[in-house]
Amino acid sequence: MTLLALSDALDNLFSRLPSPTVIEYLPLNECANRVLAEDVFSPVNVPSFHNSGMDGYAVRIADLEQHLTLKVAGKAFAGTPFSGEINTGECIRIMTGALVPNAVDAVVMQEETTLNPDGSVTFQHIPKLGSNIRRIGEDVKQGALVLKKGSLLNVASLPLLASLGIASVPVFAKLKVAILSTGDELTSVGEPLKEGKIYDTNRFAIRLMLEKLNCEILDYGILSDDRALFEQTFIQAQQQADIVITSGGVSVGEADFTREVLEKLGEIGFWKIAMKPGKPFAFGKLENAWFFGLPGNPVSALVTFYQLVQPALAKLSGLSADNIAKITQNLTACSAEKLKKAAGRQDFQRGYYYANEKGELEVRPIGTQGSHIFSAFNESNCFIVLEAERTDVEAGEKVTIQPFNSLLS
Ligand code: AMP
Ligand code: MG
Repeated sequence: MTLLALSDALDNLFSRLPSPTVIEYLPLNECANRVLAEDVFSPVNVPSFHNSGMDGYAVRIADLEQHLTLKVAGKAFAGTPFSGEINTGECIRIMTGALVPNAVDAVVMQEETTLNPDGSVTFQHIPKLGSNIRRIGEDVKQGALVLKKGSLLNVASLPLLASLGIASVPVFAKLKVAILSTGDELTSVGEPLKEGKIYDTNRFAIRLMLEKLNCEILDYGILSDDRALFEQTFIQAQQQADIVITSGGVSVGEADFTREVLEKLGEIGFWKIAMKPGKPFAFGKLENAWFFGLPGNPVSALVTFYQLVQPALAKLSGLSADNIAKITQNLTACSAEKLKKAAGRQDFQRGYYYANEKGELEVRPIGTQGSHIFSAFNESNCFIVLEAERTDVEAGEKVTIQPFNSLLS
């Protein structure tokens, strides 16, 4: 089987994976990190009344043109409007956020006035029409589209909905994801390690990332390398979850049953990607769930999760295409060192990028780039993405970098 380019694998995923259909209505304080299921239009104007942008005095410009000293007819506070009359030659004391009466046409900040002993106020100059007045609907107009279906609800968007008085919104249901690790050598974190065994890093890393992506997690633990056990567990997992994610056993070794069992129980979409790390990666469909088989090496598992599973879950969770596109952002940086690269596969090297003394982006590789060297992640802040056909990169050459998003930070 020839290796599939990552971009083709992603196209394949996006064309096959459906958008969600199950919707629930939730109060705003339960919506963090959920995906909005319908467009939201504003039921009100924001602000809903003309209000003062300053502590100062609300005036009629025509009066100031007659005389720069005005009497003070009363006070307006935020939440407590002035309800009296403002006669010719009068102004009112007004605080930030207070309703601006229709009778006035500007607010002058108090620093530009002098309060006289008799209680009147003298102004230094005549203000411009409407100055320091926040107009009705200046922020959001009634009926305007405020958030599109497929938006991520977060600190940037939820307070906006709150400011409109919207108490609950339709969101897509959380994705249910079954996770499991495969390998006779694996031991759960916290248990003593016997000779020849290693700790199960992948299930731990995958759980952390799924928690960040706000998925519901069903943990099927560690499977020993046993074909019948794989079959039985895959069947169970796909009945309970929307997505099954495994790691290990997807290569060509004698104990690698993942692909075989996927083929028997369901269908393989693609297998083997022209990327490094991460070549052995299987995507497919079981009867009731989508299937992602990550490679066993922890670095490969993490890189393929980041590059393939993350956008796939975004599509399945209902995130819009423009939001999915924001998951990975490519920048250009100068490589500070020589990078080793063989032609053939697209590389995702771990790197650290920074602005040099000229303010230009520079990047240096971290660690030896082996797919078993997980410690390099800890000091990295980006992937150095090297095109499949590219060979060694000399110091000073331009390369594409992808700063880690919040999944890895
Ligand atoms: P496999 O793809 O099953 O052949 O595994 C490839 C390499 O990754 C082997 O060295 C495994 O021991 C290692 N490996 C597999 N699964 C895990 C895991 N969950 N955590 C840490 N290392 C793993
Ligand atoms: Mg294995």
